[in-house]
Amino acid sequence: MKIPAKAESVTKRIPGVRLTKLRKNLLSWYTKHHRDLPWRRTRTPYRIWLSEVMLQQTQTATAIPYYERFLKRFPTVAVLARSPLSRVLKTWEGLGYYARARNLHRAARYIFHQLHGALPRTYDELITIPGIGPYTAAAVASIAFNKSHAVADGNVERVMSRLFHLTVSPKQKEGKKIVAELAQQLLPPRQARWWNQAVMELGALVCTPRRPRCGECPVARLCLAKKHLSDPSILPVRLPRRSHPHYDIVIGLIWKDGRVLIDQRKMDGLLGGLWEFPGGKIKRGENRAAALRRELREELDIEAEVGDFFMSVDHSYSHFSVTLHAYHCRFLSGTIRPLACQAWRWARPKDLRRYAFPAANRKMIRSLLSEGVPA
Ligand code: SF4
Repeated sequence: MKIPAKAESVTKRIPGVRLTKLRKNLLSWYTKHHRDLPWRRTRTPYRIWLSEVMLQQTQTATAIPYYERFLKRFPTVAVLARSPLSRVLKTWEGLGYYARARNLHRAARYIFHQLHGALPRTYDELITIPGIGPYTAAAVASIAFNKSHAVADGNVERVMSRLFHLTVSPKQKEGKKIVAELAQQLLPPRQARWWNQAVMELGALVCTPRRPRCGECPVARLCLAKKHLSDPSILPVRLPRRSHPHYDIVIGLIWKDGRVLIDQRKMDGLLGGLWEFPGGKIKRGENRAAALRRELREELDIEAEVGDFFMSVDHSYSHFSVTLHAYHCRFLSGTIRPLACQAWRWARPKDLRRYAFPAANRKMIRSLLSEGVPA
């Protein structure tokens, strides 16, 4: 089997002269064919850091307008550090994986207060910053400062798996370790900035998940998947898909004097810091109205009368999906206490756009504003 189980396997598999050729071919392909992306027109570490955070779970085309808008609002680490998290989350709204925005903000505050506003240059220093993880530290150290650290995102995992015909999944611990070792060994001396981007670009443009364009690939002659498989796209090894649970959620548009009640999710959980209409999961055997009344007691310690059905919205997250069922409600009694949230507001409908909401809530807000609020 073609699994290089040890670090020295790279040079065993691709001896000296061919390794030099591989590096040369890929770097010159990158020089000619790389996309002109906003973060490639800068060496500013903050901008590179931001792009790497955004690109971790977002397609390039989606990330570009967010990247540009984010930099207009937060042009430097200092501005980001001094801005409230609510403004950062609002700017991030729609991009998903909000822990990225919270971590970015947390790290910016640390850099501003503890490091005089300058990102450190080495992986070892970057990794000590709260909010910066191994991938981001390696990406910033290499792309911004040209330090010899390989990165291993999904594109790199795919290219390494095919180039070396790896029969272990890069999503498993063993496979991850092998990919990291191979990627590190392949780094040409003093070229980490270009090399890391070249491997990622190859994965994005040529060695794509479904239909790799091996005929146009600058490293095809050295690729073991191309040599041994009729269809290299079967790599990387994919793990069986886990079935994703689905949850039915009931939420209330609770009205009082023309305002609607919203609350803010606790910072440490999923979608932490975002605002939403109160409600929660419907338990087995519960009807929607009973579930909503229970959730309002548990979340805010209030009583409300559940009225007309408003709408249902489906939404998928990475590990589960939900259907939100929304009902208009009338506030009855209770002194609002944030028991399962961190803050609450009575908001005028026209002001809802000022708050950062998850995608499914935003769909409801759009309908609410276009259909008009109940009398
Ligand atoms: Fe990917 Fe094909 Fe190039 Fe191999 S030859 S690295 S499978 S595009």
